[in-house]
Amino acid sequence: MPHAHLVKPGTRVRLKDYDTRENGGLDKEAGQARFAELNAELDALQEELHAAGTHSVLMVLQGMDTSGKDGAIRNVMTNLNPQGVRVESFKVPTDEDLAHDFLWRVHKVTPGKGIFGVFNRSHYEDVLVVRVHGLAPEPVWKARYDHINAFESLLADSGTIVLKFFLHISKDEQEQRLHEREKEVGKAWKLSAGDWRERELWDQYQEAYEDALSRCSTEVAPWYIVPADRKWFRNLAISEVLVDTLRGYRDHWRGALEDLSQAKLAELEAYRNLLKETGRQV
Ligand code: ADP
Repeated sequence: MPHAHLVKPGTRVRLKDYDTRENGGLDKEAGQARFAELNAELDALQEELHAAGTHSVLMVLQGMDTSGKDGAIRNVMTNLNPQGVRVESFKVPTDEDLAHDFLWRVHKVTPGKGIFGVFNRSHYEDVLVVRVHGLAPEPVWKARYDHINAFESLLADSGTIVLKFFLHISKDEQEQRLHEREKEVGKAWKLSAGDWRERELWDQYQEAYEDALSRCSTEVAPWYIVPADRKWFRNLAISEVLVDTLRGYRDHWRGALEDLSQAKLAELEAYRNLLKETGRQV
C-alpha cells in the first residue's frame, strides 16, 4: 500500500480528511530501512532514465513554509547522479518574468530527455500565493488551472513523467518548526518574519491548495498528498511513488538501451569490415 495519497482525477480534496502525522504503521527505524532500499532502486532507475534518454521526470514539490521541501530534496535525491538531476527553485518573479505569461519562466527550465527535474515550488505559486495575496485579478488566476492542465499535458505528450507532491503538515507542526529555527543557531539562517505573516493566512492557503489539488490532478500529472509531520515518513512516501512509477518504464528503457547497444556494435563492425576491405590498419 503506497503511503502517499493519490488525488483521484476529478475528485474534491478536503485536506482536513488527511492525517498529517500518519506513520503507515511503521516505526522510524523500519521506515528508514525501507527508505534506504528504495533509494538504492531509485539510483538504478535514474541511471537507466539518463542512459535511455527517451523520457524526463518532473517532480513538483509544494507545501506550506517549513513543510520540508528542501529536506525532501536533500534526502530523496541523495543517491542520484548529480549530472542527471536539475533542481529549480521558484522565487518571487522578476520584472522580466512578469512581462510574460506565467508559464514562460517555468517552461524554460523543464527537464530535457534523460533528466530528473525537481521543482522546489513551481507554477502552482501562481494559483496559491498569487490568489491568497490578490497579486492578480480573480479571473486571471482562475483561468490558470486550465492553462496548467494543458501545459502539463503537453509535457507528458513529450515524454515527461510528471509527479506532484503536496507536503501536508499541521498548523501546530509548523509552529513548532518555526520555533525550532529560532532556538537552533544552525537553523536560524532559515528564519523569516514573512513565514509568521504567511501563517496568519493558513486557512486561505489550505483552501487554495484544495482547489489546486482538486482541479489539477490528472491521469498524466497526478497530485499526491504526503503526510509530512514526520520527516522520515515524508521521505519514504515520496520515494515509494517515484520508484513505483519509474519501475513501470524500466522495460522500455532497457529496450531502448538494448537497441542503442546493437546499433553501436553494428556501427563498429561495419567500420572494422571497411578496414579489412581496404587493407588499412589503426
Ligand atoms: P522558500 O520559502 O521556498 O525556501 P524563499 O524564502 O525564497 O524560498 O521563498 C520564495 C518566495 O517566492 C515564496 O514566498 C513564494 O511564495 C514566492 N513566490 C514563488 N513564486 C511566486 C509567484 N509566481 N508569485 C509571487 N510569489 C512567488
